[in-house]
Amino acid sequence: MTKARILVVEDEPDLREVLKYNLTREGYRVLTAADGATGLRLAREEKPDLILLDLMLPDLDGLEVCRRLRGDQSIGGTPIIMVTAKDEEADVVLGLGLGADDYIPKPYRMKEVVARVGAVLRRGSHDADDDPRQPLRRGPVRIDPARHDVEIDGVSVAFTATEFRLLHFLASRPGRVYERDTLLRRVLGDDAIRVDRNIDVHVRSIRKKLGPHRDIIETIRGVGYRFSDRA
Ligand code: CA
Repeated sequence: MTKARILVVEDEPDLREVLKYNLTREGYRVLTAADGATGLRLAREEKPDLILLDLMLPDLDGLEVCRRLRGDQSIGGTPIIMVTAKDEEADVVLGLGLGADDYIPKPYRMKEVVARVGAVLRRGSHDADDDPRQPLRRGPVRIDPARHDVEIDGVSVAFTATEFRLLHFLASRPGRVYERDTLLRRVLGDDAIRVDRNIDVHVRSIRKKLGPHRDIIETIRGVGYRFSDRA
């Protein structure tokens, strides 16, 4: 089995080395860049399978690198995980808006980085919408779009149309973080933004119905929500 190639763009030498060491130990082939321009060049030349992109970089910052990558036809679909310090959450929202696939806040545990890299690689470079009409099973939750039916632990539970769409959208893309505005736009449509700003209310209601499995929808503080990829 050919192991994926990961490009690590990180300006702190210690972190770069630790990431390289740990990802290599997991069997990945690791390329490194210490600044955004080098990262971009390597991404274009080497076409890695995934890019682990630090947000704060000395020259081009991570957001700009992300924007340019997404604008580049030849590598625009490469999964990107942003790595950010805690006080950069506003930038995370921007990054996800620019098409980053996930983000990892600093300080991180290496185990978490390895897990997220694995999860994003499994998802592939595009949204894994197989057949959106097919029933979906995620752990204790089964969603049947054709029958508009949700079963939790084998028991049918009534969901409103909005809750259903929101749950189905998130569950179709486990592990992927969505900011609130994106969820509103993608799930409720453009009109919804004017009448219904508050995605949190819907999430709260869904969680109530999920009962003991409520944590399957994770809150990403300062950003939005994701459906757990451990379900
Ligand atoms: Ca940095």
